[in-house]
Amino acid sequence: MHEMALCEGIVGIVEEEARKRAFTKVNVVCLEIGALSHVAPEALKFCFEAVAARTIAQGARLEIVETPGTAWCMACSKTVEIGQRYEPCPSCGGYQLQVTGGEEMRVRELEVD
Ligand SMILES: [Zn+2]
Repeated sequence: MHEMALCEGIVGIVEEEARKRAFTKVNVVCLEIGALSHVAPEALKFCFEAVAARTIAQGARLEIVETPGTAWCMACSKTVEIGQRYEPCPSCGGYQLQVTGGEEMRVRELEVD
Protein backbone atom coordinates (compact mmCIF):
# COMPACT_ATOMS: atom_id res chain seq x y z
CA MET A 1 0.00 0.00 0.00
CA HIS A 2 1.19 3.45 -1.02
CA GLU A 3 0.30 5.11 2.30
CA MET A 4 2.12 2.45 4.31
CA ALA A 5 5.42 3.20 2.58
CA LEU A 6 4.89 6.93 3.05
CA CYS A 7 4.27 6.44 6.77
CA GLU A 8 7.43 4.42 7.12
CA GLY A 9 9.23 7.33 5.49
CA ILE A 10 7.67 9.80 7.93
CA VAL A 11 8.61 7.71 10.96
CA GLY A 12 12.13 7.44 9.57
CA ILE A 13 12.39 11.22 9.38
CA VAL A 14 11.06 11.59 12.93
CA GLU A 15 13.59 9.07 14.25
CA GLU A 16 16.42 10.86 12.50
CA GLU A 17 15.32 14.20 13.95
CA ALA A 18 15.08 12.61 17.38
CA ARG A 19 18.72 11.56 17.11
CA LYS A 20 19.81 15.02 15.96
CA ARG A 21 17.76 17.06 18.38
CA ALA A 22 17.66 14.57 21.27
CA PHE A 23 13.96 14.63 22.06
CA THR A 24 12.12 11.65 23.44
CA LYS A 25 8.49 12.32 22.63
CA VAL A 26 6.67 13.65 19.60
CA ASN A 27 3.29 15.29 20.11
CA VAL A 28 2.43 16.45 16.62
CA VAL A 29 3.83 15.72 13.19
CA CYS A 30 2.81 18.43 10.75
CA LEU A 31 2.81 17.23 7.17
CA GLU A 32 2.42 19.08 3.93
CA ILE A 33 0.75 17.12 1.20
CA GLY A 34 0.51 18.43 -2.33
CA ALA A 35 -2.93 18.37 -3.94
CA LEU A 36 -1.51 16.32 -6.83
CA SER A 37 0.28 13.73 -4.73
CA HIS A 38 -2.58 11.19 -4.66
CA VAL A 39 -2.26 10.75 -0.92
CA ALA A 40 -5.49 10.18 0.98
CA PRO A 41 -5.15 11.99 4.34
CA GLU A 42 -7.50 9.62 6.17
CA ALA A 43 -5.65 6.54 4.96
CA LEU A 44 -2.39 8.18 5.91
CA LYS A 45 -3.57 8.88 9.47
CA PHE A 46 -4.74 5.32 9.83
CA CYS A 47 -1.45 3.84 8.61
CA PHE A 48 0.60 6.25 10.64
CA GLU A 49 -0.82 4.97 13.89
CA ALA A 50 0.08 1.42 12.96
CA VAL A 51 3.57 2.24 11.70
CA ALA A 52 4.37 4.60 14.59
CA ALA A 53 3.51 2.04 17.26
CA ARG A 54 6.57 1.15 19.34
CA THR A 55 8.66 3.89 17.73
CA ILE A 56 9.46 7.35 19.05
CA ALA A 57 6.50 8.63 17.03
CA GLN A 58 4.02 6.48 18.94
CA GLY A 59 0.96 8.46 19.97
CA ALA A 60 1.89 11.48 17.87
CA ARG A 61 -0.93 13.28 16.15
CA LEU A 62 -0.66 13.72 12.42
CA GLU A 63 -1.61 17.18 11.25
CA ILE A 64 -2.06 17.44 7.52
CA VAL A 65 -1.85 20.65 5.53
CA GLU A 66 -2.79 20.38 1.90
CA THR A 67 -0.83 22.56 -0.45
CA PRO A 68 -2.24 23.48 -3.87
CA GLY A 69 -1.01 22.06 -7.12
CA THR A 70 0.78 24.53 -9.33
CA ALA A 71 1.44 24.48 -13.03
CA TRP A 72 3.04 26.68 -15.63
CA CYS A 73 0.62 27.77 -18.34
CA MET A 74 2.35 28.30 -21.66
CA ALA A 75 -0.51 30.38 -23.05
CA CYS A 76 -0.65 32.74 -20.06
CA SER A 77 3.10 32.62 -19.40
CA LYS A 78 2.48 32.35 -15.69
CA THR A 79 2.14 29.92 -12.83
CA VAL A 80 -1.44 28.96 -11.98
CA GLU A 81 -3.01 26.86 -9.24
CA ILE A 82 -4.76 23.62 -10.13
CA GLY A 83 -6.66 21.14 -8.01
CA GLN A 84 -5.92 18.10 -10.14
CA ARG A 85 -3.62 16.94 -12.85
CA TYR A 86 -5.05 17.39 -16.37
CA GLU A 87 -7.25 20.20 -15.22
CA PRO A 88 -7.48 23.17 -17.60
CA CYS A 89 -5.83 26.48 -16.80
CA PRO A 90 -8.10 28.53 -14.50
CA SER A 91 -7.20 31.75 -16.33
CA CYS A 92 -7.49 30.81 -20.01
CA GLY A 93 -9.11 27.35 -19.96
CA GLY A 94 -6.26 25.89 -21.98
CA TYR A 95 -4.55 22.56 -21.47
CA GLN A 96 -0.97 23.58 -22.15
CA LEU A 97 0.02 23.15 -18.55
CA GLN A 98 3.19 21.81 -17.09
CA VAL A 99 2.88 20.70 -13.49
CA THR A 100 5.50 22.45 -11.35
CA GLY A 101 4.41 21.71 -7.78
CA GLY A 102 1.95 19.97 -5.52
CA GLU A 103 3.19 16.42 -6.06
CA GLU A 104 5.38 16.32 -3.01
CA MET A 105 4.87 15.37 0.58
CA ARG A 106 7.10 16.67 3.34
CA VAL A 107 7.35 16.95 7.09
CA ARG A 108 6.95 20.64 7.82
CA GLU A 109 7.25 20.64 11.58
CA LEU A 110 7.52 18.46 14.65
CA GLU A 111 6.10 19.39 18.01
CA VAL A 112 8.24 17.61 20.57
CA ASP A 113 8.98 17.36 24.29
ZN1 LIG B 1 -3.61 29.81 -19.08
